[in-house]
Amino acid sequence: MRLTFWGAAREVTGSMHLVESNATRLLLDCGSKQGHRAEANARNANLPFDASDIDAVLLSHAHIDHCGNLPTLTKNGFTRDIIGTHATNDLARIMLLDSAKIQEQDAAYLNKKRALRGEEPIQPLYTRADAEAAIRALTGRSYNFWFELPRASMRVQFLDAGHILGSAITILHIHEGERTIRLGYTGDLGVKDKLILRDPQPAPPLDYLIIEGTYGNRLHESRVDSEAELARIIGETARRGGKTIIPAFALDRTQEIVYSIHRSILNGALSPLPVFVDSPLAMDATEIYRMHPEVFDQETDAFMEKQEDPFGFRQLTYTRDVEASKAINTLHGPAVIIASNGMVEAGRILHHVKNNIGEPNNTILFVGYQAENTLGRRILDGAKRIRIFGDEYPVRARVERVEGFSGHADRNGLLDWARPIARELKGAFVVHAENDAADSLVDGLRALGIPDAIAPTYGQQMHLQ
Ligand SMILES: [Zn+2]
Repeated sequence: MRLTFWGAAREVTGSMHLVESNATRLLLDCGSKQGHRAEANARNANLPFDASDIDAVLLSHAHIDHCGNLPTLTKNGFTRDIIGTHATNDLARIMLLDSAKIQEQDAAYLNKKRALRGEEPIQPLYTRADAEAAIRALTGRSYNFWFELPRASMRVQFLDAGHILGSAITILHIHEGERTIRLGYTGDLGVKDKLILRDPQPAPPLDYLIIEGTYGNRLHESRVDSEAELARIIGETARRGGKTIIPAFALDRTQEIVYSIHRSILNGALSPLPVFVDSPLAMDATEIYRMHPEVFDQETDAFMEKQEDPFGFRQLTYTRDVEASKAINTLHGPAVIIASNGMVEAGRILHHVKNNIGEPNNTILFVGYQAENTLGRRILDGAKRIRIFGDEYPVRARVERVEGFSGHADRNGLLDWARPIARELKGAFVVHAENDAADSLVDGLRALGIPDAIAPTYGQQMHLQ
């Protein structure tokens, strides 16, 4: 079989890996590349293969860097199944529609400017109709059950990856003549004891492993400390009379932060204060979390048994329409504002950062990974001035970070997960990691006894047997 890395190769976005065996072509994820706009647009728009040749997509989870380019695939002639867990598919539905809306809005905005200059209009990367075609192709499977792929000599199993709702580790048994090649793909691997979700399931025996390495060179703070840290920072900011602005991805991080604040208020670590989730997408995602309690962990189950709602409490307001969102700006006194996106690249968070970053009593609190070349990363790296919508703003608010909410296993988590199967692995491929993290995890995997561990580059092809 052949394996080609068409994304998330020495970078963290655009996950897409092509598996070819006999006459079957299979994609593991089809995510959007993010970062430098022109480069990302070019990569997302130009698929490196004929989409109509792809027999199926196995979708690890609904984050946009794993599913966001599926509409480009359908737009270019892909007509087969996109297979994910039931929860993944429910989430992918809202993520893809939201993404299509952003693509259409971006194109309309640019076209207004182009029209003024007498330039030809550009087309959006994809439209709502393309996203709807991808959504119609979504096919749901449950964790742990094996299923056959139509017209292919392969069996597939999804295991719980514990990263976001529905996230899966994909196990493939690929039959080639007498041989069966066992290939595993972690997708994004979660952390133990994460709120809401169960722990990642252990690795089954494999011949080859594609493993993510986002934090391949880093260790996280403990989750318990992180919840206390979150309450401390919000509490201190509130006592100064300030607002805490939390950029958080609508999917998972928002639900986790809301649940954490709720727990902190209940256990007395935090005095009640107004909390706003300013994100229609987060509201939709939260509804889907509520629809899938069957994948929650025991702790969350027990919390709900006490008639407590993990995602709602008296001081919490979800805002959907723009007027309600704007009204948050006129509010005086301490509050928490959670908005997306998590790297301060787009969405309502831009307005809240713009309105609050100049005030020393406020805090911009990061609770997630900030990729290179994002505004979030620049603020976190200590920029004194930032640009939003063409205007410059001084950074006077405090900038803080709580790391333990990560949805990704850290270096120890990744190595601990791979350790039980390391000795029999014939190869391991580190993806979804920037260079330093990738190289560091490769060293760690080699030390576990996988001499052929590598971090492939974009387009690199491996022949596996
Ligand atoms: Zn993810």
